[in-house]
Amino acid sequence: MKGSDIMAEKAYKYRIYPNKQQEELIQKTFGCCRFVYNYYLNKRKEYYEKDKATFTYNMCSKDLTQLKKELIWLKEPDKDSLQKSLKDLDIAYQKFFKEHSGYPKFKSKKDRHKSYRTSCTNNNIRFENKHIKLPKLGLVKVRDKQIPQGRILNATISQESNGQYYCSLCCTDVEFVQYEKTSQNIGIDLGIVDFAILSNGAKIENPRFYEKSERKLAKLQRELSRKTIGSNRWNKARIKVAKLQKHISNQRNDFLHKLTTNIVKNFDVICIEDLDVKSMRETDSSLRNKRVGDVSWSEFRRMLTYKSQWYGKKLSVIDRYYPSSQVCHCCGHKDGKKDENVRNWICPECHSELDRDVNAAINILNEGLRILNI
Ligand SMILES: [Zn+2]
Repeated sequence: MKGSDIMAEKAYKYRIYPNKQQEELIQKTFGCCRFVYNYYLNKRKEYYEKDKATFTYNMCSKDLTQLKKELIWLKEPDKDSLQKSLKDLDIAYQKFFKEHSGYPKFKSKKDRHKSYRTSCTNNNIRFENKHIKLPKLGLVKVRDKQIPQGRILNATISQESNGQYYCSLCCTDVEFVQYEKTSQNIGIDLGIVDFAILSNGAKIENPRFYEKSERKLAKLQRELSRKTIGSNRWNKARIKVAKLQKHISNQRNDFLHKLTTNIVKNFDVICIEDLDVKSMRETDSSLRNKRVGDVSWSEFRRMLTYKSQWYGKKLSVIDRYYPSSQVCHCCGHKDGKKDENVRNWICPECHSELDRDVNAAINILNEGLRILNI
């Protein structure tokens, strides 16, 4: 390992192909985890209503040991997954108390996304010749050849709404070889027509395939809505929808991965706006137009964040209220609110002809470098 390389966490997600027995046990484990979660949520609720006191995580944990003696079937699945379920419940409570988020909810059997987590102790989770060894399940088949690096911390086994099974291995001490420095910096403006506009003038188109799939998805969803809920035909249509949704998200992920890797490879400092999708819904329409409802932008930012960390680059996030599109990047003249439809404008002060989006990206770059004192 070179001195400048970085050690960090990374998750490796694999599609897994459990056999009949393994599938049965996975389903049982989903069920037991949900049961434990709901059972102790109820217990904590009752305990609080009766005694105005908290039934803590440790109390839950002790109680679970007793409960397993009564309910033998709880002994069948991986025992760590049940502990993790208690931990998740505790985290939900902590969030409720600290962040005043909603009160923890009961988990429903109808929930289409099912998962459980289990930690790696004494090498009980490992990658072995086209299989992943998992507690209680044994060797589960994978097709992916990518071998996880570093040390495995835990595994999350999940089933998506299209029926497919996945295993995500969270690893630590993964070594990342740094990208070479390029001495080039970049500002990125989120586009309305284009996906993004770079301060060097490059415009990244919104991927067309995504729109195409969206039309097809709308059609499938209409078909689904005409079927009787719970019927065989309904179920078939539901799986079709889920498969296409998965396909769209795969396409989007590929596009975002290629784009973000490219940016992190080519630029040392990457400057972006802090666009919080939730607050965008409430603020002014110029921000709202920036493709709200599309998760791409937040995922784009998330990828830029961890990739710049992994590969030794810098991400500078500027305040979302910085008026990047209203200031002339040449002279700094502020020209008030710009109509979103005006693509080009001429600065009344220095008479520069400005492309609305590229000007914004340049301002984002300058502001991003300024706050880093570069
Ligand atoms: Zn100007």
